[in-house]
Amino acid sequence: MLKEKIDRFYRKQEKNRRRDYFYASEVTDCKRKIYLKMKGADKEDLDPQTRRKFERGDMIHQRLVSALYSAGVVTASEVRMPDQSMFHGRADAIVSINNENYIVEIKSASPYSFKNLSEPKESWKKQLQIYLNHFGIDKGIILVECKGTQKLKEFSIEKDEGVLEELQEEFEKLLDMIKKDVIPKKPDKGDWKFDKCRYCLYKEACEESSNNLTGFTGE
Ligand code: SF4
Repeated sequence: MLKEKIDRFYRKQEKNRRRDYFYASEVTDCKRKIYLKMKGADKEDLDPQTRRKFERGDMIHQRLVSALYSAGVVTASEVRMPDQSMFHGRADAIVSINNENYIVEIKSASPYSFKNLSEPKESWKKQLQIYLNHFGIDKGIILVECKGTQKLKEFSIEKDEGVLEELQEEFEKLLDMIKKDVIPKKPDKGDWKFDKCRYCLYKEACEESSNNLTGFTGE
């Protein structure tokens, strides 16, 4: 009775917007998926339960930023990168500790992945490297809260200009493919830690593009 009402509330239809930039949070995603997103391809609706999970992640994020404000270390929060850069995104917080600035990236993890987290995920590190290089700050911290126990883990990361150069090169090539309507091939799933296709909201558009010999143009 209530479940249906709540699910209806969470079942929002989202239109995918065309864009010509990348998000810092998507740099380790499937390139084919990024292509489809940027071309404005149709995507499946996110199910209400997953939306609620994301909302919970957002609440953890807000709570930790607020705790950092109370600790008196926050210089700025939700710091946005300028629109003219290739990567768009917002650094969660910039904190100052003993007169040194750090960019803080806040994440949440399920109890299982939190327990096995001995180092930050590649996607988190790359996202933070984009912010460190962009804002010219040498050090960052990835702060992770366990969704089940509220335990925290933190990882220190140093700025590495090489990572940004590699990402820029990689994504300039993708941008060129997007401009020329050349869809990236499906990735070799052997390299993937888990099957990303299973959770991909672009499965249908991805298959349609494979069947279309003239290639997907996004029109
Ligand atoms: S279904 Fe798999 S290969 Fe296709 S876009 Fe999604 S993640 Fe990429």
